[in-house]
Amino acid sequence: MSDRTYLDWNATAPLRPEARAATLAVLDFPGNASSVHAEGRTARQVIEAARAQVAALVGAEAKAVTFTSGATEANMLALTPALEVGGHKAPRDRLFVSAIEHPSVKGGGRFAPDQVADIPVTADGVVDLEALARLVAGAQRPLVSVMLANNETGVIQPVRAIADIVHAANGLLHVDAVQGAGRISCDTAALGADLMSLSSHKLGGPQGVGALVRRADIHIAEPLIRGGGQERSLRAGTENVAAIAGFGAAAVAASAAGEGEAARMAALRDRLEGGIAEATPQAVIFGQAAARLPNTTLVAVPGMKAETAIISFDLNGIAVSSGAACSSGKVQASHVLAAMGVEPDLARGAVRISLGWTTDECDLDRFQHAWIRVLSSLLKSRANEGLAA
Ligand code: PMP
Repeated sequence: MSDRTYLDWNATAPLRPEARAATLAVLDFPGNASSVHAEGRTARQVIEAARAQVAALVGAEAKAVTFTSGATEANMLALTPALEVGGHKAPRDRLFVSAIEHPSVKGGGRFAPDQVADIPVTADGVVDLEALARLVAGAQRPLVSVMLANNETGVIQPVRAIADIVHAANGLLHVDAVQGAGRISCDTAALGADLMSLSSHKLGGPQGVGALVRRADIHIAEPLIRGGGQERSLRAGTENVAAIAGFGAAAVAASAAGEGEAARMAALRDRLEGGIAEATPQAVIFGQAAARLPNTTLVAVPGMKAETAIISFDLNGIAVSSGAACSSGKVQASHVLAAMGVEPDLARGAVRISLGWTTDECDLDRFQHAWIRVLSSLLKSRANEGLAA
C-alpha cells in the first residue's frame, strides 16, 4: 500500500506497532480472565495493566475505567437517566447534547426522546454557552453531553467552561473524548468531566474496544449488557483481552508522543491548508476561526460534490473522507455543518482531511498534486454541465 496516502485518521488510525505487539502477544493466551487458575489470572493481569494504562491517559484511577466494545457502546452506557451520584437514587430528568455530536450521542442514548434536547453551536462550531446555561436552568438534574473535539471539523469545545455551567446547575457532564484523546490534553479532572468515552482505534489501538471513564462517586444503575459479573457487573461478557491489551499499549504510545507531535501535526496541517488556499482561493475551511485539533481540516469548494471528489482522490491514491454522514451509500448533508448554519449546497461538498503520526511532507506533496488535479477536473466538468444545461 506504499503507493497510497492515508489521510483519514479521524475515521480510524493505523495500528501502532506497540499495540500490534501487545495484541499479538495475548492472542495465544488460553485463560479466561474470570477463571481462578494461573491462566485466568494471567489474562486478568493483562486487563488490569491495560486499565491502568488507559486511566493514565486521562488522569483517572484505574478503577474508573470500564472496557466496552468501543465508544458507541460507552456513549450508550453513559447516557442513561439511571446515574446515581453518591448513592442518591433520583434519576436524571433531562439530557442535553450539542447539535454537533456523533450519532451515538445525538440519538439520546437510553433517554426517552422527549427528555432530550440539542444545545446549539455558533457559526464556528463551538457550543453556545449562553444557550447551554438557559437549557440546564430549566432542568432539575440534567445530564449534558459535549464532545472534546468534533470528528468532522476538529473544533475543540470549551469543556472546562461547559463543566462549570453544568455543575452550577446540579448537572453531570459526559464528554465524548474520542477525537481529542491522544491528540490534545484530556485530563478528566482538569476538564471537569464526570463521564468520558474513549475509543481504542482512534489512538492506534485495535478496533472494537473502547472505555467509559467515570467519576468515583457516580454509579450506573442500569447496565447496558447484563449477564456475568464482568467489569464490575457494568458490562457483561468475556473480555476481549487481546484488544484491551492493544488499547492499553496505544494509550501509552499516544501519551508519550505528547506536545511535540501535536506541534508537528499542526505545522503539517497549516501547510496543507496554505496549499489549498493557494490553489483554490475560493475554498472554505470550516471552523478555521476556532481552536481546532492539530490534525483535521474540513474543506469545501463551491461547486464541488464530496462523493465525486472522494472517489477521484481515491483513484489518485489518496484516502480522505466526506464531511457528511454516509448511510446506506447515500451521502447526506452533514448535521454538523447544518448546525453551524452552512448552506446545504456548500456542505455537500465538504471533504475531511485528517492526519496522523506517520503523515509526512511527502504525503502532503502527493495530496497537493492530487488536489490540483481533482479540483480542476471536477470544476471543469461542473462548468461544462452548466453550459449544457
Ligand atoms: N464519537 C466520535 C466523536 C467518533 O468520531 C466516533 C467514531 N467515528 C465514535 C464516537 C464511535 O466510536 P467507535 O467506533 O469506537 O464506536
